[in-house]
Amino acid sequence: EVLDLNPSSEEKNGLDAALRPSSLREFVGQASLKENLHVFLTAAKKRGEALDHTLFYSPPGLGKTTLANILAKEMGVNIKTTSGPVLSRPGDLAAMLTTEISEGDILFVDEIHRLNPAVEEALYPAMEDFNFFINTGKGAGSTTLKLSVPKFTLVGATTRSGLLTGPLRDRFGIVFNLNFYEITEIADILERSAKLLNIEADRRGLEALAARSRGTPRIANRLLRRARDFAQVKGDGVITCDIADIAMQSLDIDAEGLDTMDKRILEALIEKFGGGPVGVENLAIAVSESIDTLTDVIEPYLIKAGFIARTPRGRVATKKAYDHLGRKSPEGMLF
Ligand code: ADP
Repeated sequence: EVLDLNPSSEEKNGLDAALRPSSLREFVGQASLKENLHVFLTAAKKRGEALDHTLFYSPPGLGKTTLANILAKEMGVNIKTTSGPVLSRPGDLAAMLTTEISEGDILFVDEIHRLNPAVEEALYPAMEDFNFFINTGKGAGSTTLKLSVPKFTLVGATTRSGLLTGPLRDRFGIVFNLNFYEITEIADILERSAKLLNIEADRRGLEALAARSRGTPRIANRLLRRARDFAQVKGDGVITCDIADIAMQSLDIDAEGLDTMDKRILEALIEKFGGGPVGVENLAIAVSESIDTLTDVIEPYLIKAGFIARTPRGRVATKKAYDHLGRKSPEGMLF
């Protein structure tokens, strides 16, 4: 599924990795984030210290993993990658910190909001004082062992900063939110990807793909590969605007980049709930999607693009949503 925002591990290690820029200079967009990050890492390097623990949050596919890897490159240190669900016991974390990480290295924890509480608690002193406490034995004979771990940098990634517990969030010195990209930025990313993948495309073709990518580089790169197939079978190998249109139609992606799930959500909101307001739980049930996926993965773009608005009483469909589905909007709609 082209718009499935949660990548398989094959994708993360395959296409994603192949197209990952390796320096801040090559990283497109996110201007103020890049500027600040450059200052922080230059200062840390000058002092000869590890970078402060850093948290990136954004919907999937916007560049968190890429930035973690760029940080390691620019700092000239090694990076070890793991994820919240994989680090299931405190012992796993102890093993990583004591055998795989050296002074200054980066430990990248994707989906850090999914750490199990025992692991999270063991992480606090490691982040703060670079100590790790191990409990051995049970009852009266139990003891606590203190290990010191190298001064490392924890880089965490999550879809929403609010998913983290307060104590974990507070231990990050640097926190960045990544925004959806502009169409021209996505087109720039696609130009680079096309070159790397030896795909022929003209600028208007790339812009047509970019306009349907939900401001998300990962989706753009997927659409590029699908459009190449259409260019080779239905055209002369070059991705043009027409080829992009044909490809998007056959993938059921409309002019705004919305797919069938997006449209089902807007339809449910308008038809079942009279345009809202409706709580996200009820909306999720109506389209048989999980609340987490709806809130963290699907809805952010619908809100950013102005199809849904969040109000204190729930989600409402905007005039743009009615117009887009070809429905008549109620009289006197404010937005
Ligand atoms: P996340 O970790 O936020 O899910 P990734 O860092 O894995 O996202 O990025 C997904 C894909 O998009 C990667 O292939 C990466 O190369 C590409 N990408 C993301 N952001 C950028 C960017 N700013 N410039 C160029 N490519 C990008």
